[in-house]
Amino acid sequence: MNYTYFQQHTIGREVVCSGVGLHSGAKVSMKLKPAPANFGIRFRRMDVCGQPVIDAHHHRVVDTFQATTIGFDGVVVATIEHVMAAFLGAAIDNVLVELDGPEVPIFDGSAAPFLRLLWKAGTRRQNSVRNCLSIDKTILLKDGEAYIKAAPSDGFRVRYAIEYPHPLVGKQEFLWAFDEDGFARDIAGARTFGFLKDVQKLQNMGRAQGGSLDNAVVFDDRGLLNQGGFRYSDECVRHKILDFMGDLALMGMPIIGYFEVFKAGHTLHRRFIEQLTASPGCCTVSRAACLPARIFHTAPLPSFAGGFPQMVKTL
Ligand SMILES: [Zn+2]
Repeated sequence: MNYTYFQQHTIGREVVCSGVGLHSGAKVSMKLKPAPANFGIRFRRMDVCGQPVIDAHHHRVVDTFQATTIGFDGVVVATIEHVMAAFLGAAIDNVLVELDGPEVPIFDGSAAPFLRLLWKAGTRRQNSVRNCLSIDKTILLKDGEAYIKAAPSDGFRVRYAIEYPHPLVGKQEFLWAFDEDGFARDIAGARTFGFLKDVQKLQNMGRAQGGSLDNAVVFDDRGLLNQGGFRYSDECVRHKILDFMGDLALMGMPIIGYFEVFKAGHTLHRRFIEQLTASPGCCTVSRAACLPARIFHTAPLPSFAGGFPQMVKTL
């Protein structure tokens, strides 16, 4: 993709796909439509009377158990975090997402299929300046040993760490600095993961009905059930960064800051956003054009070329 960070972007044309929802197990069709400047990302439930529209905004979050769900007036859209991460990663600001069911398709459990869909749609630069949120002072949210800390930075950087008592996970830490190519290469392909005993519990609760080895990395007590193994040796922590980006995208604009996250999940991500927006002086909304150009080019990483076809199923 070729674009400037200073202006807003939408997709070049309408694209359609279909898949199943991870938690509902329901088949759903999803259409992405170009939208005007300052529209943001909005979801529309085509299967509900009046076809209500729900803004992808943190004020609309109604559930964070196992996935991020937005809703309004009793109508919900679940598991939005991976497609939201793809919009943020591809620097797409304005899209209308039409669904004929209550949940975004899970596809392979990563953001790669959504990114591929966005590449297929292309991008269109819009005649409006993009806003960015800059972290101005350090802010910390703790919950037991879990925490999220944000500090001023010259770009979007995140250091995420997790710890699970499993021989194939253990302690994983990954430091990542945003750049467009790096999102595709380092983060987008990392899949959702879970432990077999938790998956069985969730299924007994009526969740994870669409879950399978095609859309999640699943561990039993000793090993990995997926025949194909990992896409990255530290795939789990990379997926946590993907989830974090998807949840941060609910701020409605890119964020410039350094984040340190330990053992968090959707619920703590949401509480952190609430604390950030409720703390005066912690952050400022600026027009991207007024920010120093260097903050958009912070990661001197090699260029991503050739895609990741082995990771992406045909939509
Ligand atoms: Zn996820």
